Amino acid sequence: MTISAKALCAGVAGWPVAHSLSPRLHNHWLKAHGVDGAYVPLPIPREHLAVALKGLRLAGFKGVNLTIPHKEAAFALAHKLDDAARAAGAANLLVFREDGTLEGRNTDAEGLAASLRAGGVTLSGAPATLLGAGGAARAAVLALDVLGASEIRILNRHRERAATLANELAPFVKAKLKACADWPAAARDTGLLVNATSAGMKGQPALDLNLDPLPQGAAVCDLIYNPLETELLKNAKARGHNTVDGLGMLMYQAAPSFAAFYGITPKVTPALRTELEQALQA
Ligand code: NDP
Repeated sequence: MTISAKALCAGVAGWPVAHSLSPRLHNHWLKAHGVDGAYVPLPIPREHLAVALKGLRLAGFKGVNLTIPHKEAAFALAHKLDDAARAAGAANLLVFREDGTLEGRNTDAEGLAASLRAGGVTLSGAPATLLGAGGAARAAVLALDVLGASEIRILNRHRERAATLANELAPFVKAKLKACADWPAAARDTGLLVNATSAGMKGQPALDLNLDPLPQGAAVCDLIYNPLETELLKNAKARGHNTVDGLGMLMYQAAPSFAAFYGITPKVTPALRTELEQALQA
């Protein structure tokens, strides 16, 4: 990979950021496409984000991705926002425009929709069931709507957050959004179950859910990618459901950022997945 004085530079801003797979991902594509460029981790404390962004822009960076805790601040700092960022109230991509403005985008919903499609999930008119009401659940609502869900049934540990999510996102989607308390009722005739909670993540308790009410034909997706196979996916596989893990979303959400920084739309390939799986195991 060449890095010349004209290299195109971008990175991921977070605090902490050392755990992020984004440098791995983008550098895989930079190498695959022979781009004269670099993508680096940018450890930036919350209180220094605005000044750091200014410096990166002045240093010629094309833009940055944002991870915890910067997505909401990036949303607030952007001069222009896409619909997905507006719906999420958060931006995971800031593109530095030549006129000095910051364009805020959110590619998580696009990434999840692409991952579900690649996993063979079609909804076309069926209801979908979503667990969680945090940032990832917001992206999931938009993705399920794009996939054609007739209704999205949202369940959350603190039920009032599910109701807030349904109310806030209703103006952005065609699907009917319904906050539910009753899992068996929410699972009835559903085409897809998506876990957008952090239950089941490495270091967190597993999701406490009995899959018996889930129709046999329903697909099951977990947004968690560490571990790659959560207890939820293991149980769903054992029952014969089509399953989709969270690594697909991570890879597909990065593709529009790469295109914005380097001008090439990259492909999600088995080689990329293998490299990221190895990084997760390390
Ligand atoms: P948030 O902290 O914003 O939300 C966490 C959600 O999980 C809340 O709905 C919370 O419920 C729920 N929750 C936490 N613990 C439990 C539990 N023990 N039982 C039931 N529900 C629980 O996190 P995010 O939305 O940002 O992330 C959620 C998950 O999605 C994470 O695992 C993250 O890694 C993953 N993710 C994956 C991405 C990918 O590219 N694959 C992208 C973004 C996120 P409550 O409101 O009641 O507290």
